[in-house]
Amino acid sequence: MITRFAPSPTGPLHLGHAYSALLAHDMARAAGGTFLLRMDDIDRVRSKPEFEQQAIDDLRWLGLDWPEPILRQSRSEPRFRAALDRLSDMGLTYPCSCSRRDIETAAGAPQEGAPTHGPDGRIYPGTCRHRPMQDRRPDDAIRLNMARALEAAQPLPAFTETGPAHAGTHRLDADDMIQTVGDVVVARKGGGIAYHLSVVVDDHGQNITDVVRGLDLFDATRIHTLLFHLLGYPIPRFHHHRLIRDENGKRLAKRDDARAIAKYRAEGATPDDIRRMVGL
Ligand code: GLU
Repeated sequence: MITRFAPSPTGPLHLGHAYSALLAHDMARAAGGTFLLRMDDIDRVRSKPEFEQQAIDDLRWLGLDWPEPILRQSRSEPRFRAALDRLSDMGLTYPCSCSRRDIETAAGAPQEGAPTHGPDGRIYPGTCRHRPMQDRRPDDAIRLNMARALEAAQPLPAFTETGPAHAGTHRLDADDMIQTVGDVVVARKGGGIAYHLSVVVDDHGQNITDVVRGLDLFDATRIHTLLFHLLGYPIPRFHHHRLIRDENGKRLAKRDDARAIAKYRAEGATPDDIRRMVGL
């Protein structure tokens, strides 16, 4: 078993991160496997070296260890390009120049009961879907043509979930993917790789067998399963864990500095206190 904890170094780690990291670490250790730390620093603007160092210090303090060197996604650029080219060569991508506002306007008033948002935000209305890749301008994003991707992926794959909330096998459903996910972004305006493709490429590159992360990402797992399959990568198992919430039942956010691990440390908490606080 190989698990990973893959924070984006865009803020301090809080109790939710501690839970995710401890769980991934404990699962690997219980199975005699390996726990990896990865820095998901593809957001060049918001990722900061000081957040990365703080995260490493916090995780070490919690008692976690991992093989060095850690992988930084910012170093994976050539592998991301290769994966993107592969999807493009299969005819599954197109360039998109739509702004958020363009998308809102084109999407118009939704049919009653039809979903408007999926795991990638606003479901894309398809304005640029006819554009060929050769037409790509530097500030275009690149989207996956979901209908074509699903055709190319037949027979559709399934993923295995080992987390408590959705344990079992989940086979992708084409109609559902078209209606509730749509044409997701695989490269952002300006050329940077987008989240869904970057995690798939690096989880494969690191031979992750069990992706352990919060339930907030469960819906995105359908997209990742499709990408793993299209790229010819084996599909890992997934374990989506409960989310740590504040006293009002609200999920902790990155900017929730009040529950930063660093703050509890400064106040004299021990790693065992943190384990207890997150219910481990
Ligand atoms: N880097 C992502 C985040 O911090 C998590 C990636 C993943 O677990 O798939 O939200």
